[in-house]
Amino acid sequence: MIKLGILDSLWEMIFPTPRICILCKKKQEQIGICPACREKLAAYRQNHCRCSRCGTFGVTEENCPNHRKWPQYLKSNQSLWPYCGEYRKTLLEFKFKGQPWLAEALAKLMAPLVSKGDIIIPVPISAERLKERKFNQSALLAKYLARETGLEYAENVLIKIKNTPRQSTLSYAERQKSLQGALAVKNEQKIIGKDIILVDDICTTGATILTCAQILHEQTKGDIYGITLCSGIQ
Ligand SMILES: [Zn+2]
Ligand SMILES: [Zn+2]
Repeated sequence: MIKLGILDSLWEMIFPTPRICILCKKKQEQIGICPACREKLAAYRQNHCRCSRCGTFGVTEENCPNHRKWPQYLKSNQSLWPYCGEYRKTLLEFKFKGQPWLAEALAKLMAPLVSKGDIIIPVPISAERLKERKFNQSALLAKYLARETGLEYAENVLIKIKNTPRQSTLSYAERQKSLQGALAVKNEQKIIGKDIILVDDICTTGATILTCAQILHEQTKGDIYGITLCSGIQ
């Protein structure tokens, strides 16, 4: 468990963390998801196959189209939830409202997915998008994930140097093309020789994670492991 600092405790007194299930919103004692939602998720995972390489739901690794272009050093992507129903709703709530308590609760649930890697890096957003949204949802998740796992969090390493169209409106090839040239690595001494955990809110076509992994691998020569809140459904 993470010890809270004085500022954190003070913050908690002024803005107490809502003790509700982050999925069904029922009141409960603990932070996170309630036993009923946990059971429902376990049943979903049991009844739906999942690609063991990139985490896409509803498809096996052999039939999955989303990781075909992935190089060997991009080992895997693991995600917590499918992008549907209440899981999608909670992701959108987090993405557009960005409440830190929600990031903390989500990171606690995502932490068991981290089993390899040395350093945590979020998928970046452009300065323009950051100004508009005030926060990067992937960076929030990554920060709390670093706190939960005790791993190093690397800020200002992978950066976005120009704005790109919203990824959800583009095809796989268009996504890759628009991202290449929009990303850059700074402070590369922080990552040389390290295996990287790349954090994003969602993995759908796998193009974002692939493009980020390519540019990071050029510097680290290490392996890359994706951890995302949601994965798409085939
Ligand atoms: Zn619930
Ligand atoms: Zn796959």
